[in-house]
Amino acid sequence: MSELPPLQFVPILREYLWGGRRLAELGKPLGDGDRYAESWEIVDHGADQSVVVGGPWAGKTLHELVTRHGKALLGRHHPQPQFPLLWKYLDCQRTLSVQVHPNDAQAARLDPPDSGKTEAWVVLSAQPGSKIFAGLKAGVDRTTLEQAVERGTCDECLHSFEPRPGDCVFIEAGTVHALGAGLLIAEIQQASDTTFRLFDWNRLDRDGQPRPLHVQDALKTIDFSRGPVVPRVPQPTSQPHVERLVACEKFILDRWQIDSPQPLASDDRFHILAAIEGSVTATASDSRHELRRGSTLLLPASCRDLQLAPQGRVVLLDMYLP
Ligand SMILES: [Zn+2]
Repeated sequence: MSELPPLQFVPILREYLWGGRRLAELGKPLGDGDRYAESWEIVDHGADQSVVVGGPWAGKTLHELVTRHGKALLGRHHPQPQFPLLWKYLDCQRTLSVQVHPNDAQAARLDPPDSGKTEAWVVLSAQPGSKIFAGLKAGVDRTTLEQAVERGTCDECLHSFEPRPGDCVFIEAGTVHALGAGLLIAEIQQASDTTFRLFDWNRLDRDGQPRPLHVQDALKTIDFSRGPVVPRVPQPTSQPHVERLVACEKFILDRWQIDSPQPLASDDRFHILAAIEGSVTATASDSRHELRRGSTLLLPASCRDLQLAPQGRVVLLDMYLP
């Protein structure tokens, strides 16, 4: 089995109407535009491909690594048709559309088929009054929601709250959601790009047209038994500096808070490691990476133990398959 060193990738910047310039705070190389909405840090989904930066593997796509070096990259989770997780940052300057994603079974019936999309957010910063819409208010059924969408008052059916930095919100496939204006968000999700837009706040685009909605697909996809979604309560783990934000069948999301050197023990899995506060030096397999706020490192399963040496207090997210 060939071995792979820890890998870093070129971020893929996406410009949408709701973006801004705050991804620069995470070290992203913005151009002159003012609508930088998303930075895709780790992706292997069709033509959307992360490309390795630096070291002997520079220029390889994530899909090439999954298909040709799958055992080294994925360890116990080899083989996979594609890298199973997508990791990104979002700068929400305007409220996003109200949407829902299918689960695996629903997405498999699409043409072309896709994965389902369960996702989780970590709030990096929130302007005062910023909102997250997550889940339906108690008692909202399909008829109530459909009528509200027709009247343009869909938001009255949605549970919402004002998040604080550090909040984690878990959005299972089938949960209606929207990120509000003023949020800087980190998101881990299944590698899928299927979204059904239920409501766009009665907005028109630059040409005076509403954006397309997928109301019937959305209504079919929504799990009406699921009520309001609130921020996760972090759970302790066997390691005092690690708390668990999400453990579901699609991914595990842990948060590390360290101010002294710590190892990340190898466990025959890949780990996506992202610094969201502070700076840390990550050393493994004769390679060394300096991670700052916004940096991501993909640790292949074949890597020996990773050593993390923080400069002061550091917050990291560690994302992997169960
Ligand atoms: Zn979503």
